[in-house]
Amino acid sequence: VTETLAEIEKKEPQVDAFLTIDEAGAQAAAAQVDAKPIATDNLLAGMPIGIKDNLLTDGVTTTAASKMLANFKPVFDATVVEKLKAKDAIMIGKNNLDEFAMGSSTETSAFKKTKNPWNLDKVPGGSSGGSAAAVAAGEVVASLGTDTGGSIRQPAAFNGIVGIKPTYGRVSRWGAIAFASSLDQVGVFSRTVADNATVLQAISGHDEKDSTSADIPVPDFRAALDGNIKGMKIAVAKEYMAEGVAPGVKAQIETAIDTLRSLGATVDEVSLPNSKYAVQIYYIIASSEASSNLSRFDGIRYGYRSPEAKTLEDVYVKSRSEGFGHEVKRRIMLGTFALSSGFYDAYFKKAGQVRTLVIRDFEKVFADYDLVVGPTTPTTAFDLGRKVTDPVTMYMNDILTIPANMAGLPAMSVPAGLVDGLPVGLQIIGKAFDEEAVYRVGYAFE
Ligand code: GLN
Repeated sequence: VTETLAEIEKKEPQVDAFLTIDEAGAQAAAAQVDAKPIATDNLLAGMPIGIKDNLLTDGVTTTAASKMLANFKPVFDATVVEKLKAKDAIMIGKNNLDEFAMGSSTETSAFKKTKNPWNLDKVPGGSSGGSAAAVAAGEVVASLGTDTGGSIRQPAAFNGIVGIKPTYGRVSRWGAIAFASSLDQVGVFSRTVADNATVLQAISGHDEKDSTSADIPVPDFRAALDGNIKGMKIAVAKEYMAEGVAPGVKAQIETAIDTLRSLGATVDEVSLPNSKYAVQIYYIIASSEASSNLSRFDGIRYGYRSPEAKTLEDVYVKSRSEGFGHEVKRRIMLGTFALSSGFYDAYFKKAGQVRTLVIRDFEKVFADYDLVVGPTTPTTAFDLGRKVTDPVTMYMNDILTIPANMAGLPAMSVPAGLVDGLPVGLQIIGKAFDEEAVYRVGYAFE
């Protein structure tokens, strides 16, 4: 922990991956671990971990990178944080993100811009950009993020590290500040697949506080890490290798596919024809759910209250107008519109129907295949400031990650080489609750 804090002090001025560093808390937790006998069967004991700042941490400021929650100190831990602490992992601090996890570059944070450690002029991706950059910069061994439309996998790809979004329901969302509840999942960043499996193991499992967490056994993920993928059936969706994917990225993924073949897997081309609608329906569904979830920030129960407010109406309107940033307001307006009585059938209902088609596409492919692979992102990390003023361009960046959220499937990004000095990610999508197959292939490949 001492070395981690020293490393953070050295690197933070360039990278800006943390919003809060809980030095005192981390030292105290480390002293407690030191006082116990060494637990040789617990790989997490003493492991320094970063936590995305939309996951509640007892007594430690949790902002969701919003002015709305700038001074919010939770009175309990998110289940994932509680589980890590129970394993004696050390929470080092809170990582920067796009405000309320809405974005793909971490630039919508109300507080700071995180830089990509590979090239400080590039974005770290988002929304979990701080969690990813902290691991890539060597500040922490692992970190937690959340993934609603790609927010773990895309930053993992941009930072050349491993990032998994588990199956919807594998990990409790209790204490994760809700963005879009039917899509949100907590997941793990790390430099290696083995570390990733170790941390996911600790945070997985049913939680009575989250009714959408699945009451099914959690397998031993590390047991899948034997390097053997002979006979596995892997599909490549032709829509994920189409135009729009940068030639350099495509070439790296083709090389990755050759590697998988040489390791003994069979790889065939398949079609996921409805994936092309995924971004459009995502922005209806996610924004609708966000507009409902964010109604709790009313200036009364949590966080920011406008000092100008004189009437009850003022408290709502002024607190929300001043407390939320542009992107969050855009989502609330989109969502409120899509849910309004005159437009509900045309937008929200229709989006739900198309979501079912996306799910069926995957079901068809998974009847014959173990996994789907492809690029995580169409390009490598882009320049800071380049897309943040152009929401549609920013939204299209998630075209390859959103389908797995729509279908609730586990998906991981693993490093697959460099293009012009910047990392490329190979995305591995599995069947529901089959993280083992995802890890098996990721481990054999890395
Ligand atoms: N970039 C997507 C968005 O802006 C996904 C974010 C996420 O997964 N939290 O909504």
